[in-house]
Amino acid sequence: MSGFAAVDVIRTKRDGGVLSDAQIDWVVDAYTRGRVADEQMAALAMAILLRGMTPTEIARWTAAMIASGERLDLSGVNRPTVDKHSTGGVGDKITLPLTPLVAACGAAVPQLSGRGLGHTGGTLDKLESIPGWRAALTNDEFIAQLREVGAVICAAGDRLAPADRKLYALRDVTGTVEAIPLIASSIMSKKIAEGTGALVLDVKVGSGAFMKSLDQARELAGTMVELGAAHGVRTVALLTDMSTPLGRAVGNAVEVAEAVEVLSGGGPADVVELTVALAREMLAAAGLPDADPERALRDGRAMDAWRAMVRAQDGDPDAPPPVAPEVEIVRADADGFVSTVDAYAIGLAAWRLGAGRARKEDPVSAAAGVVLHRRPGDPVRAGDVLYELRAEAPERIAGAHAAAAGAVSISADRVAVPPLVIGRIG
Ligand code: URA
Repeated sequence: MSGFAAVDVIRTKRDGGVLSDAQIDWVVDAYTRGRVADEQMAALAMAILLRGMTPTEIARWTAAMIASGERLDLSGVNRPTVDKHSTGGVGDKITLPLTPLVAACGAAVPQLSGRGLGHTGGTLDKLESIPGWRAALTNDEFIAQLREVGAVICAAGDRLAPADRKLYALRDVTGTVEAIPLIASSIMSKKIAEGTGALVLDVKVGSGAFMKSLDQARELAGTMVELGAAHGVRTVALLTDMSTPLGRAVGNAVEVAEAVEVLSGGGPADVVELTVALAREMLAAAGLPDADPERALRDGRAMDAWRAMVRAQDGDPDAPPPVAPEVEIVRADADGFVSTVDAYAIGLAAWRLGAGRARKEDPVSAAAGVVLHRRPGDPVRAGDVLYELRAEAPERIAGAHAAAAGAVSISADRVAVPPLVIGRIG
């Protein structure tokens, strides 16, 4: 690949120019190999954040990130493949019931997931609260499980889009995570490299999400849908509300328990609604529009697929969940109706209780978390329980208490609850 001077590439973007295909291919490859320094890539990422990128630049950047590693070949899987990606939210355990549900309806779901950082939880951290369950699979194990069970949730290997792994860590410490071209190319390079045939995106909007405004969320969703199409992956996005946590449980084991309730045909209405809405989109994208996910939840097929998926990765689906020794109950101080439960504040409280991590290397607590007893729209009387804070160590409680203070507002009049699914792109 012909060489450029990194400083010229940085200057081009700094001055509002358009990077050529050759410049993009070179800079992504040279950075992955360590020939462009972190400080140079940090300057370029900041220039991209401030100046943006054209659709052609974003498509090329994404292709260069995919080309930095391996692209899995799932053609040997004997069913259509379809995956889901959420941009991340508080209490977002939807992947847990959704993956086996879609598998029970006839598709195969190759879900490569991450760990949590900051106030949103990670799917792998949640599943690791199940005794014995392991996140690391070889490529052969991954493909064999997809063929046999149709559902896999596991850690992405080091060879998948290594440019993104390095760049994401750099963006995290240089204030450049929020650039839409970089977020879109980061997410889509991993999903395209994973080899899925179709993809449904759940782009979150609201206090607990990356994207705080609907306009930003629409732009991100539209960019990712175009990238999917350009790479032959049928891609659809739902825009969904993340101003309130999803469901009642925010943490690791508590979220697994809530997912199991959904798979048993129960669970909170919003978690069921979003799981079914995403399942319908995934099945349509996989060419199975007549499958009936609600029936698969009712008749136990989704639960059977969950148990097979957990067992295939050495987890015990019947193990009792860990119990947190420290529980603090927070009660309402007035009569009325719950008007808001702020997702960011509850996510931060769960994180302070030990459910999340501050640094990549930190361990997480399986038992810690927040359990909501009231959600927006619910009637409440003074003295009723609003939420529980659960932790393994007593010193975790005070910081979580402070984070959650003011998260729940009570109004005298009944309030309208905003819709969960706000829009669809694709
Ligand atoms: N998730 C990703 O994988 N990448 C981003 O840039 C942001 C969220």
